[in-house]
Amino acid sequence: EINQMSIKFQSRSNNEAFARQAVAAFAAQLDPTIEEINDIKTAVSEAVTNCIVHAYRDTLGYITVAAKLYDDGEIQIVVRDKGCGIADIQQARQPMFTTGDAGRSGMGFTIMESFMDRLRVRSREGVGTQVTMTK
Ligand code: ATP
Ligand code: MG
Repeated sequence: EINQMSIKFQSRSNNEAFARQAVAAFAAQLDPTIEEINDIKTAVSEAVTNCIVHAYRDTLGYITVAAKLYDDGEIQIVVRDKGCGIADIQQARQPMFTTGDAGRSGMGFTIMESFMDRLRVRSREGVGTQVTMTK
């Protein structure tokens, strides 16, 4: 890789914008198009929001966002929490599946998948979740 960073912040809703902007600023080194930057921001926003509203539903915890830039112009983004975890990842990734309140559409993973090239989700109940996205 040619460069990497990581940030760690509390699961407060204000920090969703912080994480999205931080990754966008870091990714700017790759000279992305506006569209690519917007895709990355959307995906980061969905992943971080999931940590805030699901992983740490009734509590505050730490979220880590790491990014790596590669020579070939690829970016890898990892969003990690130590929250409640996901019981059934396959089911969670289905479009319109949600355990959230009314108003959640269950489209976060589907959006991440469509705006990025690859999405990997690893999770253990009671341990946490790690979402890895590449573009
Ligand atoms: P939307 O993203 O459309 O607001 P949503 O968050 O429910 O709705 P997804 O982002 O696709 O939809 O997530 C699907 C489900 O996966 C969530 O409802 C939740 O049950 C689970 N989930 C996702 N991310 C996490 C996480 N970091 N920790 C625990 N559970 C998660
Ligand atoms: Mg979501």
